[in-house]
Amino acid sequence: MPRKRKNEGEKIKQNGEKPKRKGRKKSKARLSEVEIESYADEISRQLVPMLGLDIIEVDASSIKGLVSEIVAAIAESRVTKPTINSIVKKMIASKNNFMKAIASTLISSNEVNSRERLEFLISYAPELAGKASPILYKTAKKLNLQDVIEDLRHLWNLYGRPTPVRCPRCGFNSVMPDLTCIVCNATLSEKEIKDEIGFNELLNNIVSTYNREVIYEIIHAGYVVFDGELKPPSMANNDSIEIILHLSREEREALKKTIESYKQ
Ligand SMILES: [Zn+2]
Repeated sequence: MPRKRKNEGEKIKQNGEKPKRKGRKKSKARLSEVEIESYADEISRQLVPMLGLDIIEVDASSIKGLVSEIVAAIAESRVTKPTINSIVKKMIASKNNFMKAIASTLISSNEVNSRERLEFLISYAPELAGKASPILYKTAKKLNLQDVIEDLRHLWNLYGRPTPVRCPRCGFNSVMPDLTCIVCNATLSEKEIKDEIGFNELLNNIVSTYNREVIYEIIHAGYVVFDGELKPPSMANNDSIEIILHLSREEREALKKTIESYKQ
């Protein structure tokens, strides 16, 4: 019986160029809906311990949907009926893709609720973890997992939407122009942001960066924009994330004094 199958397979390979014949054989090899279901049941059961999914408390029933799709796709792409064994082998060989798909399901169904699952996401789907940092941070914070939070900060900078100002509350680069933080949802004061970026020193240095007219422009406008560096209002660029910081009376006076002494 297996020998006959193999011969059939070879014949099809030889005639592979003829689409008509190939198509006919292919449809014959398809798994029925019922077969796909029973394959998926068995494969899911086998994969859980093999991939260590029990550690993150993911059971066979929760991966079955995903496995069914893969079984159907593999069956569709083959000229001979695949065996359970061959599908399991194939899935182990492309383990990372499968793990990434599980990670994506966990995120979209909001089921990342333990250290193990957070670590799973960070190692198998770093890009997703980076993008989902605002959600994952809250779980990590609740569980007080400082090392996980540190990893998330790194991934946020790589794959998320990092902004020029680091939030003093959660430590992510995630302060928006309206002074809210998109990771921890804090609303910050300009004072907190000024302390975070070392505003006084930046303001002192700005005098040596720009000419007198520009410094007077800042003094008159009463504010600067920050996009990683301080800039006068006229150099604001709407395409990037910038934060407007108003000068206090003292800061304005100090700037005026500096530019006057700088000139001489
Ligand atoms: Zn924050």
